[in-house]
This record gives sequence, structure tokens and C-alpha cells, in this order.
Amino acid sequence: MSVGIEVLFTSALGLQEPWSVKDVKLDTSRRRIDFDLTCKASRLPCPHCGASSQGVHDRLAREWRHLDFFQFEAWLHAEVPRVACSGCGKTGQIDVPWAREGSGFTALFEALALSLCQELPVRQAAALLRCSDKQLWRRIEHYVSQARELDDMSQVKIVGVDETSLRKGQNYITVVHDLDVKRLLYACQGRDHQSVVDFADDLKAHGGDPAQIKHVCQDMSAAYAKGVALALPLAQISYDRFHVIAMAVDAMDDVRRQEMSTQPQAVKDALGDNDRKLLKSLTWGMRRNPQGWSIKQTNAMHWLQHSTLKSARAWRLKMALRAVYAKTTQENSAVQAKADLLGWISWARRSRLDPFKKLATTLKQRIDGVVRGMLDNRSNAYVEAMNGLLQQAKRAARGFRTASHFIAIAYLRMSKLKHLPSNPLLPALPQAGVLIHRCL
Ligand SMILES: [Zn+2]
Repeated sequence: MSVGIEVLFTSALGLQEPWSVKDVKLDTSRRRIDFDLTCKASRLPCPHCGASSQGVHDRLAREWRHLDFFQFEAWLHAEVPRVACSGCGKTGQIDVPWAREGSGFTALFEALALSLCQELPVRQAAALLRCSDKQLWRRIEHYVSQARELDDMSQVKIVGVDETSLRKGQNYITVVHDLDVKRLLYACQGRDHQSVVDFADDLKAHGGDPAQIKHVCQDMSAAYAKGVALALPLAQISYDRFHVIAMAVDAMDDVRRQEMSTQPQAVKDALGDNDRKLLKSLTWGMRRNPQGWSIKQTNAMHWLQHSTLKSARAWRLKMALRAVYAKTTQENSAVQAKADLLGWISWARRSRLDPFKKLATTLKQRIDGVVRGMLDNRSNAYVEAMNGLLQQAKRAARGFRTASHFIAIAYLRMSKLKHLPSNPLLPALPQAGVLIHRCL
């Protein structure tokens, strides 16, 4: 054999002088391959001050998990030199080129782990890689914070501010998105005005300018509006469709719940028979669009629409607000949108349904922002899509769902960070010269 197996693996592992493979042990029964690496140099630069040619003090045995070689789990072992420096007087371990300091995984293994965590729940990625999810969470947090330090926010001009919760109704997290580039910029615990102020500070720390933010898309939260007024002084607020319709659905649910508990007889008379299943069909039928109704829901809704129940009026109001939004999408006229919305508000005010009267007042107070939101289709669609991605991030953190884990995985998946390690299993891009050659 012209090339020894050690030389072959030295090259396969990308090792350079003074490092090389000294020994390779393949254990087929344990499906494991072990590489012993050696550093031939007896004098090395000091890892602290950089002084060249310092004496090796001693060597400490260490090991690293590496990418599998075929079906074999691969491990690297090396005695890593510690250098005693005559310049600065310190003794320190040198950095090895295949792993970052303190990690028991090689850099390539970490890069693969990170790529898997972008697609799979972390627990599942850990099972595939045969390591613990705790080990993966540590890496995710490390690489995300490193990549975010280098993140550039200098071009941010329009943002969406929203809240999400880790568990229903608790552990609130504020998320801020760049609505142009469609990525997550910032996430933090809490949902008060300080969350927006903290975002503005983070924006500045990444080269952005709060005065450059001209437009904020958000829900009706007064706290966020206060934060915007404090920290993003030139931004106009718009209220997106998603949140406005959600408020109408909540108002409708309030009316229905109240009616069912205070006037069960009226509900029974109107629907003929109000067993629990029918009421459930009704609840969901009222929330859904008619195109999505099941047969049961269609039936329940038929009875509801022919009744004089408050729930029926509430449902019509909700559907009418949806129709106002749909019409605006088609006509794209601010004047018409405002007129239609005022028409709806006036109807809701006369509806004698308290939750809708309250919603009408809220919309009237913020009418310009609501109309701006009606016309901004791109943001509306994105806010809805983002909600779906946030739910996926929550699922990815299942079993380890703390605020800091959720925020880290959300950054990993939704921030389009440019400074993360790339997937080592993807083939390298062809060089420019090769491409030109092909084109010719
Ligand atoms: Zn030194």
C-alpha cells in the first residue's frame, strides 16, 4: 500500500502540521472508530500572549466526538500540549484546530447538530446523534449568541411586535420581527413597554437606528404603544388584521358563553336540542369560516342563523368585520376602508352586545392605525405565518421549554443568522471558475 491508513485519515480529518493521525482503531462489534492524534512539536506559540517557540510543559489527554465515519461512531483522542511561556509566565493549553475550547464535540459535529436542530425537535436530533439534549441546548445557545453578536440590523425599517406565551396564559415572550426581510430580530421575556425599549437598545447594539424605524405593526396593547412612543419616536403604529379579527372572535365567544350560561332555555328553544355535542359544534362553527364547516357544524349554524339569539348577532358582526377586511384587500383604498370600518363600528355600537360595543370603542380610538393595518397585506400575512413558526419552535423545545431555550431555538430557526456554522453534510459549492466553464 503506497499510502498508510494514518496518512489517509490525517488528510480526511483535514489535519495539518504539527498534528497527524498516529493510530486508528476500528471496533466493528461496538460500531466505533477511534483516532489517536499526535502533536509532534516540542515548542509552540504561547496561547496567552502569542510568543513563539515556547517549551511544552506537559500534555493532557482529551477526547472529542466527531462525525460518524459510515456506520461507525468516531472519536478523536489526543494529548494536548500545555505551553509554559517564558514571556508572560503563564502555562496554558493550546487550542486544537478541530474543536472550540472546552467542547467535547468537534466543530464539524457541532455544525451538524445545529443543522439538525433547525429541522427537528431538539430531543429528536439528540436521539439521532446519540447524545443528550442538554448537550445540544448548550451548543445552540453558544452558537446563536455568537452569531447574533455579528448580526447586522442597520437596514431595519419596519418591524412587527407581538407576544407569545410558553404555556397558555403564562410566561410571556415579546418577539420583534423585521417585516421587510421577514426574520426574527429580537425576543425577550415579558410584554410591557420595557420590552420595546430593550429591543431599541439591541437594535442600536447591532448597527440599527431606532429613528429609522418608520412603521410598527402590533396588537392593541397599550404597553407596546407606550414602548414605541418612548423608543421608536418616528414610527407610525398599524394594527394588523390577525389581532383585530382575533379580538372580534373573542368578543363573539364572550357573548356566546354569557348567553349559554345565563339563558340556557333560550338557547335550547332556538336550537331544539342543546346536547353538549351540538353546543361544541356550534362553538367551533362560529369560529371557523363557513367553507371549513363540517356537516354537524353546518347544521348547528343553520339553526343559529335562523334564531334571534345574541350569539347569532355576534357571529354576524364577526363575519361582517372579516368581510370589511376582505373588501379592503380587493379595493386597496384607504378612504373606502375607513368608511367601511366606521360603518361596522356604528353597527357594533348599536348591537346591544357589550363585548362588541367595547371592541367598537377600541377600534374607533385607534382608527388610523387600524386602517393602516387593513391596507398592509404583506405584514398581515407575515404576522400569521410567523405565529406558525413560533408554534414549531415551541414544539422543538418540548421537554426543555424554558424561556431561554425557546428564545435560542427561535433565533436559530427564524433569524436567518449569517454567522452560524454551515451543515457539514452539504456538498461544498462549486468554485466560480468551474461555473463559468460550464456556462461557456
Ligand atoms: Zn505567553
